[in-house]
Amino acid sequence: MFITLGFMLLPKNGDVKPDLLILAVRPSVIHNWAGKSKMRKILLGMSTAELKLLAVELGEKEFRGKQVADWLYRQGCNKMSQMANLPVAFKTKLEEGYEAGRSLVKKTSKSKDGTFKLLLQPAYGELVETVGMPYEGRFSCCVSTQVGCPIGCAFCATGAGGFKRNLSAGEIVDQVLSVGEVAIKEKLLDGEGRVSHVVFMGMGEPLLNYDATLAAVHLLNTELKIGMRNVTLSTIGYVPGIYRLAGEDLQCTLAVSLHAADDALRRKLVPGMTRFTLQEITDACKHYFRETSRRVTFEYCLLKGVNDGKADSARLADLLKGQNCHVNLIPFNTVAESGFYPPEAIRIVDFRRVLEEAGVMVTQREQRGAGIQAACGQLRRQALST
Ligand code: SF4
Repeated sequence: MFITLGFMLLPKNGDVKPDLLILAVRPSVIHNWAGKSKMRKILLGMSTAELKLLAVELGEKEFRGKQVADWLYRQGCNKMSQMANLPVAFKTKLEEGYEAGRSLVKKTSKSKDGTFKLLLQPAYGELVETVGMPYEGRFSCCVSTQVGCPIGCAFCATGAGGFKRNLSAGEIVDQVLSVGEVAIKEKLLDGEGRVSHVVFMGMGEPLLNYDATLAAVHLLNTELKIGMRNVTLSTIGYVPGIYRLAGEDLQCTLAVSLHAADDALRRKLVPGMTRFTLQEITDACKHYFRETSRRVTFEYCLLKGVNDGKADSARLADLLKGQNCHVNLIPFNTVAESGFYPPEAIRIVDFRRVLEEAGVMVTQREQRGAGIQAACGQLRRQALST
């Protein structure tokens, strides 16, 4: 059982005190999915360099650490006993204090377009959602960085469930490994194929779990060989996180969710991030571009009759014109009982035209995963209510 402090940490105006979120800690003794009561350290999430140090600490040659990394990240191994080329004494030492840390796939939901969503039971703690998406010539995984989310966006199933805890870097990487394995099993990838792109757009706000998110990005790059340019980090507009990220010398794409073109409406739609105005958010994005030369993507979820009007598109065009960016329009993916609805097709066309006439580049996100509760947090909520 985890200590859940997310709701208690939300002040009255709904704004987040991110530094306090790390207080949602794991207790020292816990039952894992295998029913073991002693909490052992998790290997997944350690880099090859860290595993080499661990091997030396346990009295082995450094290269044994590299072998462990190969089993974890390249062979998808979840048991020391399966690590065939390790000496028995080393395996025994590892088993005493560590476990690999892979999750179990508790539920798989598949869509006709090949998109699938996994509900994962991590070694310790609450269920995690992740999504696999096949495209022509590439395979994407959408990862969660938190269980639940403290932001509470009005239209989001995850936000409605509140914040539970931060995920570790290993738990984030585990999602990518699990998606790759299921994709091979489902013949969406051949045996040699692998997840080529990762988007941090699942449950949670990545920049409020900054260290684990950053560590996961590096692990995806160094251990799973996923190019930095194939990684997209998304944020609801946590300004200090954007400035910090700009200094990391990463080449990943930054996607910033706006969802409104005026501050009053944004405060209603995104109640957990009222500290920063749209101007402050776009200023941070300009800084990010100056530092990294990477063009920022602005995500805008179109909600019928709420933020899809002519005045909304004109305000958004004013806010973004002249900025080196691009806008991704996302027609709302219906969440049961949310009270929000997808926009009419004509509204999407008009909205896009206004932006393009102002010189703002626009794309429209393809609808994926129809029929599989594809909006983030939906599958987890459904599982918890049954
Ligand atoms: S849309 Fe994203 S930031 Fe908003 S509540 Fe959902 S998961 Fe959190």
